[in-house]
Amino acid sequence: MSKKQILVVEDELKIARIIKDYLENSGYQVTIISHGNEVLPQIQKSMPDLIILDIMLPGKDGMEICREIRKTSTVPIIMITAKVEEIDRLIGLELGADDYICKPFSPREVVARVKAVLRRAMPEPVQEQLIAGPIALNQLTHYVSINNQALFLTNSEFELLTVFMQQPERVFSRNDLISMVQGYDFEGYDRTIDSHIKNLRKKLDQQLSGQKMIQTVYGVGYKFSPPEK
Ligand code: CA
Repeated sequence: MSKKQILVVEDELKIARIIKDYLENSGYQVTIISHGNEVLPQIQKSMPDLIILDIMLPGKDGMEICREIRKTSTVPIIMITAKVEEIDRLIGLELGADDYICKPFSPREVVARVKAVLRRAMPEPVQEQLIAGPIALNQLTHYVSINNQALFLTNSEFELLTVFMQQPERVFSRNDLISMVQGYDFEGYDRTIDSHIKNLRKKLDQQLSGQKMIQTVYGVGYKFSPPEK
């Protein structure tokens, strides 16, 4: 299998080189670009498998570049921002990025995100059976079990758990969840999502005490961290 190509767009060369080292050690091939105006010509020549895109750049900024790429390509994009508070706003702008990382970050985190985003980007057939540790969910029969014991969920709770189990560790905004679940009773209200999550959490926690699988990501939304075993 040929190596996946990652394009790192970052003007702080020290950071860019650290990311490059870690990604190369994980088996990726990495190109660095440090000026915003060079990105589009570069990807026209050769489209990478994934782009890591800093927002603050000389020339065109990351947001503008992301928008332009999205006009013609669905290449996975991970944006880098210097402010955690900015992530919420960026998600709201719907730039079409696949994930966001906040500075300062650990290079290990970057590698983990790259792997996760690439895994999601691969076209996969509908998987009827989703497994996360002790939880098993069948999308065709709507049957959920924990440690082989049936778990009874409402339709909305089932849809939410499906979305979470399909993309563990992904941070979903409330709007993401509303648009992905599209239950008739959501009506687009944040609080409705919150109460479904609360109920789902309660049911999961009753079976798996002490393991907080659905975590609140402050100011952004929720993520699902499956138990190890
Ligand atoms: Ca920068």
